[in-house]
Amino acid sequence: TESLSSRDPELYGAIKSELGRQRDEIELIASENIVSAAVMEAQGSVMTNKYAEGYPGRRYYGGCQYVDVAENLAIERAKQLFGCEFANVQPNSGSQANQGVFQALLKPGDTILGMNLASGGHLTHGAAPNQSGKWFNAVQYGVRKQDNLIDYDQIEELAKEHNPKMIIAGGSAIPRVIDFARMREIADMVGAYLHVDMAHFAGLVAAGEHPSPFPHAHVATTTTHKTLRGPRGGMIVTNDEDIAKKVNSAIFPGIQGGPLMHVIAAKAVAFGEALRPEFKTYIQQVKANANALADQLIKGGLDIVTGGTDTHVMLVDLRPKKVTGNITDAALGRAHITTNKNGIPFDPEKPTVTSGIRLGTPAGTTRGFGEAEFRQIADWIVEVIDGLAANGADGNEAVEAKVRGEVAEMCARFPLYPNL
Ligand code: PLP
Repeated sequence: TESLSSRDPELYGAIKSELGRQRDEIELIASENIVSAAVMEAQGSVMTNKYAEGYPGRRYYGGCQYVDVAENLAIERAKQLFGCEFANVQPNSGSQANQGVFQALLKPGDTILGMNLASGGHLTHGAAPNQSGKWFNAVQYGVRKQDNLIDYDQIEELAKEHNPKMIIAGGSAIPRVIDFARMREIADMVGAYLHVDMAHFAGLVAAGEHPSPFPHAHVATTTTHKTLRGPRGGMIVTNDEDIAKKVNSAIFPGIQGGPLMHVIAAKAVAFGEALRPEFKTYIQQVKANANALADQLIKGGLDIVTGGTDTHVMLVDLRPKKVTGNITDAALGRAHITTNKNGIPFDPEKPTVTSGIRLGTPAGTTRGFGEAEFRQIADWIVEVIDGLAANGADGNEAVEAKVRGEVAEMCARFPLYPNL
């Protein structure tokens, strides 16, 4: 009965401060979003108390009748969202969804072909420090020097040379639509599985605003907390019954124990929201906002990798302004605009420095920002960067303070979680 604020004031204070930060800052991190109060309510529910190893109707614990309802709702809604026959909603994260697919379809030492980090791939696609890079023979493809687009000819060459058992499409900083049909063609040439990690663009697919990985992918994974706007977590979908069976065994008992039923309940709520017509309107606005942001940044003298974006995410090449990603990320942070430094393809700088920042519109769009707001945000970003260009890493304190004040005014016009 004791409230969090009296039971644990220290922790309560951290949560309050985080709410304040989210309210007062403009969130441009491409992998983040803002969940509904309903999603948070489900995640903060009594379902956190329940052990439910196994799957609905086939549990290793008693008393699972109500968590079964939650998981079945999540599964049915996921299948509807992606037009798929099978969904496993138990992966605790996007990384564990990928691990589950590897566990289902690969053996240690098998060859996998994924996109390198420097070109926008994800750690779990075979990067050296990740388990996927250590336990598999990971071969990596990238983008073309001339236009920074995925080099499908290189993928074909590497596939023929190394005979991978699995080809992975997708990544964390890919602004353009991926040619899934071409990837499947290459996979078929060498008898590989095509695994599409749609973590970033899953919400766009769900809304019918991005090509679907299906029917080309053998299996697809996603996080549930990015453009899908659900709780932090992962999911695996497929149309292949044999793969589905292997995936279920791989997640439990293969790599996980008791599923996070409160998170699965929240996934069900978010998937229900994503099935509504408003979600399509939201995703259309996410894309329109991304185009406006990219266009206005270009007008301000910055480069956008590939010249723009087809999705919610873009990579800003800072080199025209002769500044680096690390100092830009920090300066924008001082102005209450939250981003992340990010390597650009063929980046001459170290990963701790970088020549770029990655920006995305999902969180701002949920907040209610439209194209006018995103053009204004682009102008602020350019002002702050020009301050860096003129003054070095410390930036222009007066400009940053002015922008911080204007950011506060914009944030006040779009209240976040007014009932919290
Ligand atoms: N796959 C891709 C393409 C991602 O961008 C991410 C997120 O960073 C992941 C997988 C991993 O997801 P998580 O952070 O939930 O482990």
